[in-house]
Amino acid sequence: CGIVGCILKEDEDVAPILFDCISKLEYRGYDSIGLATFSGDKIHIKKDKGKIEEVDKKLNLTDMPGNFGIAHVRWATHGDPSKLNSHPHVDEDSTIAVVHNGIIENYLEIKEKLILEGHVFKSDTDTEVIPHLIQKFMAEKFDLEHAVRKTIDVIKGAYAIAAISKNEPDKIVATRKDSPLIVGIGQDGYYLASDSPAILKYARDIIYPEKGEIVIIDKDGVVVHDEFDNVVNKEIDTINWTP
Ligand code: GLU
Repeated sequence: CGIVGCILKEDEDVAPILFDCISKLEYRGYDSIGLATFSGDKIHIKKDKGKIEEVDKKLNLTDMPGNFGIAHVRWATHGDPSKLNSHPHVDEDSTIAVVHNGIIENYLEIKEKLILEGHVFKSDTDTEVIPHLIQKFMAEKFDLEHAVRKTIDVIKGAYAIAAISKNEPDKIVATRKDSPLIVGIGQDGYYLASDSPAILKYARDIIYPEKGEIVIIDKDGVVVHDEFDNVVNKEIDTINWTP
């Protein structure tokens, strides 16, 4: 029931920061936790159902390579709490990883169509259609940003989504509709989160994306595009209080 993303400017491991941030969203309620990072031409994933401390003890969640990634605490709506149903979700070849907060109402219809096109699904979640759709659009030569744009044209429901692709690394693309998502600009990197307590330790300059806007973060900064690909000049809200 919460997502986080982070890209660090320097070549330092992001997993401890992702873990710290996502742990702060525990209060939103959760049954599973997972992280995805990118390094060495590969998306690395650790995830399972259970309490954050227990999963961390078992999988050592802070020990993952790479200076950018995404994380999730899940409150299951479609599919039981299980390792397979935990986020991040990937496409068949693990070229895309996605975390999602919300519900995709028309996922069954989309899933059936994708299965007919040859996609193989591993989970019972509504979320899994998202990495498959992004992969399909990237195979049609859309870049990650536009593949996400095409994906939100297809899905219905409530979502905050963050996606990474091994074919377009060093970048996180995120968007939202009816689920919360904020962007943080920090000294050492750029952040995404469902709520500010997750990231205030690292970033106090906050941007609030609107429905349908696409956020692209890389190590050089944050860009927000509207549905016509125009750059949106977002207001930056500086938060001075401490959670
Ligand atoms: N509907 C998704 C699932 O059941 C996301 C739930 C959430 O927001 O945590 O996996």
